Amino acid sequence: MRSLLMKNPLIIGLLWIGAYLIIVLFPLLILLFYPPTSNEGRSFWLEFSVALGFIGLAMMAMQFALTARINNIEASYGIDLILQFHRYTSIVAFIFILAHPIILFIDNPQTLQLLNFLQAPWRARLAVIATLALIAIVVTSIWRKRLNIPYEPWRILHGILAVIAVGFGLGHALGVSNYLGLFWKAVLWIGIALVALWLLIYVRLVKPWFMLKKPYLVEAVIPQRGNVWNLVLRPFGHEGMNFQPGQFAWLTLEISPFRMREHPFSMASSAENRDRIEFGIKAVGDFTNTIKDVKPGTKAYLDGAYGVFTSDRYEDTAGFVFIAGGIGITPIFSIILTLAERQDERPLLLIYASKTWEDITYREELEELKQKLDLTIVHVLREPPDDWSQETGYVDKELLKRYIPKRPATRNYFICANPKMMDAVEVALYELEVPVTNVHLEHYNIV
Ligand SMILES: Cc1cc2nc3c(=O)[nH]c(=O)nc-3n(C[C@H](O)[C@H](O)[C@H](O)COP(=O)(O)OP(=O)(O)OC[C@H]3O[C@@H](n4cnc5c(N)ncnc54)[C@H](O)[C@@H]3O)c2cc1C
Repeated sequence: MRSLLMKNPLIIGLLWIGAYLIIVLFPLLILLFYPPTSNEGRSFWLEFSVALGFIGLAMMAMQFALTARINNIEASYGIDLILQFHRYTSIVAFIFILAHPIILFIDNPQTLQLLNFLQAPWRARLAVIATLALIAIVVTSIWRKRLNIPYEPWRILHGILAVIAVGFGLGHALGVSNYLGLFWKAVLWIGIALVALWLLIYVRLVKPWFMLKKPYLVEAVIPQRGNVWNLVLRPFGHEGMNFQPGQFAWLTLEISPFRMREHPFSMASSAENRDRIEFGIKAVGDFTNTIKDVKPGTKAYLDGAYGVFTSDRYEDTAGFVFIAGGIGITPIFSIILTLAERQDERPLLLIYASKTWEDITYREELEELKQKLDLTIVHVLREPPDDWSQETGYVDKELLKRYIPKRPATRNYFICANPKMMDAVEVALYELEVPVTNVHLEHYNIV
């Protein structure tokens, strides 16, 4: 019974939320049960502002756990949801931390002198530096694209600023010492900081080190329709990665995994075949444009598998509906290939939007899979040829209504496409009375 409960993703998810709330609200409990060592002359607003500062700091420290790609957490929510949570909680933490000095200044305007950087005590200087780092994190994250900061330098900067914000914030809290005066409280906070630091070391050093021990070699680069190249990898000196169809991995090519220049790609091959892993990569930018020139024998490293966009989580369903747009076909192709290899007999419907008939990635391969599966494919073309008599334009409610089963709740729906199409399809499915719990999304634009 216990192990059954622990396998339920909903229960595990709720347990993680509970753990998060306990850790984040822990500073408040300390304040409640062990009020400050000397509270003479301390107003309610002062206490309140300190509480906000502590909660904000604990939330910031927890961001390291959220972004450390801990498999257990990832498997409960999926990377999309975790990153959304990371973004929103960072903003809440930012507001709490900013409110801390603002309330302090309003409550006691004399404390404004603490902003005089040169003359202020070092604990106040630490607070100023931590707050500036935090402001820089928020600005460069929200407006990264507008500020023209490429993803990789931004990621390095983001990590450095986060360490400064949490490290200096903690230094400030220890320096003020009113609440952390007791030895064990200081130990507790240092413990939280050390865990955050360990997570950083784990992501930047330990994980890459493990990846280095399990390299892959490029076997081939195969051109596909739609400006896509299939990168075929073979494990070198190990058994390869276990994955569920529809999941993804972070790929590092040619360079050491310590360089942290990795990109996420869905596996586009069968999950039954772990010693030959393929990725279907569309050329859209600096890294993906180089795939076509990668030579066989090139070293590659994988961090994975990640993601909850997989048919394996819904084994009891009566069938699947897949809705793909362009390169969003890759995880769905992996699912369909795997189901074919497993001789699955359930009805599968693929609604696949592409620009032109020539652009349809894996067109022939999908057609062939119809021989092995109960698979219906509906191609939707934005620029159809003159003799095209099938679906055209965009995937909307009317189109979906024509194809999805009369009892829509009997299927699970997997959508991977560009953000606009995903939003439109999600709303349309909702209007067609598909339960939200049956709809699964994979976003490619997570950053
Ligand atoms: C879960 C997931 C699965 C994906 N699966 C596939 C797939 O199967 N096939 C495919 O062609 N594409 C896939 N992508 C998209 C792919 O990761 C990006 O197209 C690729 O990283 C772009 O890199 P670039 O340097 O060529 O382009 P750039 O022009 O540098 O970037 C284009 C955009 O891609 C995103 N991006 C760039 N670098 C990274 C990075 N290191 N990490 C995360 N996002 C980044 C950013 O939003 C950026 O604005 C997937 C993305 C995610 C999140």
